[in-house]
Amino acid sequence: MSLLEHEEVLVGRGERSGMYVVVAIHSTTLGPALGGARLWSYAALGDAIADALRLSEAMTYKAAAAGLDLGGGKAVLCAPPEHGLTAEERRSLLLDVGDAVESLEGRYVTAEDVGTGTEDMTVIGERTSHVVGLPPDAGGSGDPSPVTARGVERAIAACCEHRYASADLAAHTVTVIGLGHVGHALATRLSAAGAKLIVSDIDASKRTAADELGARWVEPEDAIAAECEVIAPCALGGAISEETIERLRCEIVCGSANNVLASDSLATQLHERGILYAPDFIANAGGLINVYGELNGLERGGLDELVDGIGDALMRVFELAAERSITPLEGARAVALERLDQARKPSGTSFSASRAATLPASRA
Ligand code: NAD
Repeated sequence: MSLLEHEEVLVGRGERSGMYVVVAIHSTTLGPALGGARLWSYAALGDAIADALRLSEAMTYKAAAAGLDLGGGKAVLCAPPEHGLTAEERRSLLLDVGDAVESLEGRYVTAEDVGTGTEDMTVIGERTSHVVGLPPDAGGSGDPSPVTARGVERAIAACCEHRYASADLAAHTVTVIGLGHVGHALATRLSAAGAKLIVSDIDASKRTAADELGARWVEPEDAIAAECEVIAPCALGGAISEETIERLRCEIVCGSANNVLASDSLATQLHERGILYAPDFIANAGGLINVYGELNGLERGGLDELVDGIGDALMRVFELAAERSITPLEGARAVALERLDQARKPSGTSFSASRAATLPASRA
C-alpha cells in the first residue's frame, strides 16, 4: 500500500509512434522526480500504469534515504507485445517520450533503465533538456557501474563496522554473486582492500576474471551457501528467497542487485537469524548518485563524497533500527519518510493531477 500519494500521472499516446507513454511523478518534495525510462511490453495499459506507480514510489524512498535532493518518478514506455521495435519505431517512441518529459517542465527528469540505454537518452535529449544518463561524449556521466560499486563497497564497510566494530575489509571474506559490470568493479575494489574473495557467475567465461582477482570460484547454485562473512548479490533480483534463506551461512547480505529480497517478510527472517541486511536501495544508490551528479554538474570529488555518504546513511539506518527494534529495511523506510515529512511543503501549496493526454505532435 502506498504511504504517499502520487503527485501526477501522465498517460499519453505518442502521435509519432502510436505507443503509450506513462510518466508517474510520485514526489517532488525533495527535488525534481528522477527515475529511468523503462521500455517493456505490457499485456494491458493498466499493468504499465501500475508498474510506473510502483517504481516511481520506490525512487522517492531511494533518493530520500540516500540523502539526495531528488524526488521519485518513472517513465514506462509500452512496446508492442508482438514484435521488437524497428530503429524507426524506436526513434519515434523516444521522441514522443522527449515531448512527454518536456511537457512536465522539469518536474520529472528521465534516465536510462531496463530496455533503454545512453544512446536512447541522446534521442530523448533532442526534445527535452530534462534527461540524464547521456554518453560521456554528449556531456553525460556514462556507465554508472564503477560509482555503484564504490557505494556498495562503502555499504559493506558500514555493515562490518556495525557488526564487528571494524570496517577493515581485510579481515573478511566476501562472496560476490554475479561478476558483471558492478560485481566485477566491486570485486576489484574489495580485492584492493585486502578482502578474501569468493565469486560466482552463470557465465563460466567469468572464471578468467576470477583467477585474475585471485578469487575462489564457486558454481552459481552453491554461491548463496558459501561460508563467508558477506554475501554480495550483484546479479538479478530475488537472490534471497524462502528457498535460499535457509542455505545462508553468512552474517551480512549487502550487494548491488535491485530487489535482493524476493519479499519484504524475508527482512524479518534475516533479522531473526542474526543476519545483517543492507537495504538494497541504499547500498546501490551510487547509480542514482551518478546521474544526480550529472544533473547538478558535480565534479568527481563532490560525487565521490556523496557516494561515500552511503556508508553514513546505512549506519544511521542500523542505529535507528536498533533503537526502535525494527529491521534495517523498516529503518531505511523510516529514515526516508522522516526526511520527506520534514521537507514536505505546507498543504495547499501544490497541485495534484492525473492527466490523460495525447502527446504533442512533432514540432520539428
Ligand atoms: P550485468 O548484467 O552487467 O551483470 C550481472 C551479472 O550477473 C552477469 O555477469 C550475469 O551473467 C550474472 N548472473 C545472472 N544471474 C546469475 C546467477 N543466478 N548467479 C550468478 N550470476 C548471475 O548487470 P550490472 O549492471 O552489473 O547490475 C547488477 C545488478 O545491480 C542488477 O540487479 C542491477 O539492477 C543492479 N544495479 C546496477 C547498477 C549499475 O550501476 N549498473 C545500479 C544500481 C543497481
